[in-house]
Amino acid sequence: LTSLNGETITAAQIDGLVQHFPLCMRHLHLTLRQTGHLKHFGRLQYTLFLKGIGLSVEEALIFWRQAFKGVTDDKFNKEYRYNIRHSYGLEGNRRNYKPHSCQQILTDHPPGPGESHGCPYRHFSMDNLIAAVQSMGVNEKGVLDGVKKDVEAKKFHLACNRVFEFTRRKELKEVAGHRDGSLGETITHPNEYFEKSWKLVH
Ligand code: SF4
Repeated sequence: LTSLNGETITAAQIDGLVQHFPLCMRHLHLTLRQTGHLKHFGRLQYTLFLKGIGLSVEEALIFWRQAFKGVTDDKFNKEYRYNIRHSYGLEGNRRNYKPHSCQQILTDHPPGPGESHGCPYRHFSMDNLIAAVQSMGVNEKGVLDGVKKDVEAKKFHLACNRVFEFTRRKELKEVAGHRDGSLGETITHPNEYFEKSWKLVH
């Protein structure tokens, strides 16, 4: 996985990049902005995704410090700083953790009450999922019905790819090789979703 053409991004750019996020990361970002907090697995899933799109550890610390509301610097430094640095392989066992794949997100640690990690296509109720997909600009009945059908067949990532194809239909048609508006290869990683979307627009 590469970052935006190999360049790093800053904390201040993230809100402007949400249009390229798959629903799982969009949900984490919007929840963080609405509540000023994310629980452990949500922080982990989102931190590793942001690392994968090119956010340095310094910018990640700025991003999370600013995003957490009602948290003193002291509490932030004690409770969160270590975990963020740990995700970057700078603390503890110094493992260079990779951003989670769809497979991991779909199967590891299903979210409990008040948690926002996981895959919305799998972990949301159908009503909440359809509302979330509509908030991404998907308003065509055929596409929404397709999402429902995929989810009922437990083909969660296909529902996610369907949404990608609809939201990027204009760009896909303009790019050689995608004239039928389909993506070709199926996306199986949130960071791949981000990169494909970003590259289609730039
Ligand atoms: Fe995220 Fe993958 Fe689920 Fe799409 S299918 S929302 S990229 S976990």
